[in-house]
Amino acid sequence: MTPEALLAFDREHLWHPYTSMTDPTPTRLVTGASGSRITLDGVGEVVDGMASWWSAIHGYRHPILDEAVRRQLDSMSHVMFGGLTHEPAVELARRLIDLAPAGLDRVFLADSGSVSVEVAMKMALQYQRGTGRPERTRFLTVRGGYHGDTFDCMSVCDPDGGMHAMWSGVLPEQVFGERPPPLGGDVDAWAAGFRALAAEHADRLAGLVVEPLLQGAGGMHPYPAECLAVFREVADEHGLVLVFDEIATGFGRTGTLFAAEAADVAPDVLCVGKALTGGYLSLAAALCTTEVARGLSASDSGVLMHGPTFMGNPLACAVASASLDLLTTGDWAADVRRINTGLQALHEIDAVDVRVLGAVGVVQLDHPVDVPEAAEAALAQGVWLRPFRDLIYTMPPYVCTDDDIAAICAGIAAAAEAG
Ligand SMILES: *Cc1c(COP(=O)(O)O)cnc(C)c1O
Repeated sequence: MTPEALLAFDREHLWHPYTSMTDPTPTRLVTGASGSRITLDGVGEVVDGMASWWSAIHGYRHPILDEAVRRQLDSMSHVMFGGLTHEPAVELARRLIDLAPAGLDRVFLADSGSVSVEVAMKMALQYQRGTGRPERTRFLTVRGGYHGDTFDCMSVCDPDGGMHAMWSGVLPEQVFGERPPPLGGDVDAWAAGFRALAAEHADRLAGLVVEPLLQGAGGMHPYPAECLAVFREVADEHGLVLVFDEIATGFGRTGTLFAAEAADVAPDVLCVGKALTGGYLSLAAALCTTEVARGLSASDSGVLMHGPTFMGNPLACAVASASLDLLTTGDWAADVRRINTGLQALHEIDAVDVRVLGAVGVVQLDHPVDVPEAAEAALAQGVWLRPFRDLIYTMPPYVCTDDDIAAICAGIAAAAEAG
């Protein structure tokens, strides 16, 4: 099919994320990707400022990751995980337990980030049942979060400004604290309100679900590490299962391997996804402590009632292990620091707010971005961006060179001007 025919069919028949079927925004045809670049039909190679929604940390067509998938194909691409296991799953779990904050040594392999959050929430609910508190069925969280698109995940997303606001009345009603203050903000004032809210609702709360250190798709909002200690204390004081959703922040993005490390706080359940496979295949995991695993196994059913068809997919596990090995044997921390330095140029852009944390750069405008206009302006600078709401941001692959990062900053400046 010609590019025109592909795009015409796509426009008629394929859903894209958060997009109208009757009046879709423009879609571009990708014909290849390599390193930090994607190739767009009619445009050519551009730097990928989005790392395919924050996942392709090592860049595209990495020889070691390509080889890991090929090698796994030669033995098997998939088998069911019910009653069966395999080396790729065991090897990945070993690595995750090794890298994750201490105590998280029970691994549930899920097929997407949203599913891992569903599993984490189910773990918390079943844990409360198993420990004699079945009346604890609600969750505490903070405003401004994003935890996925399935129903229980949506219930802990930001209830007002977020992408799931239209579902109020349909979703389980959770308890929302104020969004944590920005970096340099008043943690004590926020913490006092959050502690009071938790105390008020404690009898009915099963768990506390938050994105540590950086709220991603809910508004690209970094907040002080001290807030993580407050989450841990509140969870301990009231017997809540503390879930850290590190699907966006995990694997070095904010400057530590996990955002939780910034405050030396360990959750009871940790969700990882996105960058887990280096952006190759859909895979996520929910890791929990032995205590949570024992508690929930004492509930009526005695088992964790979840088991996706493609649980523990060997191809995905194999490439995830290879990606983690690349991280641990390479110097991702130096790359993230280097990218952070390059992204400081964003502060020159005239905007309501500019936020840079780790390998994340965010420019907030005083109006909703005209996404097609802004994306077009960035492409003219050789950069792929996908702004949302009033935000133009980048979470680039760690393999970006200094020149790539300079191009991304120029792309964001052009997008801010145009959109
Ligand atoms: C992307 C994301 C999810 C959802 O992951 P999917 O793989 O898209 O289902 C959940 N939580 C956070 C913090 C995310 O960034």
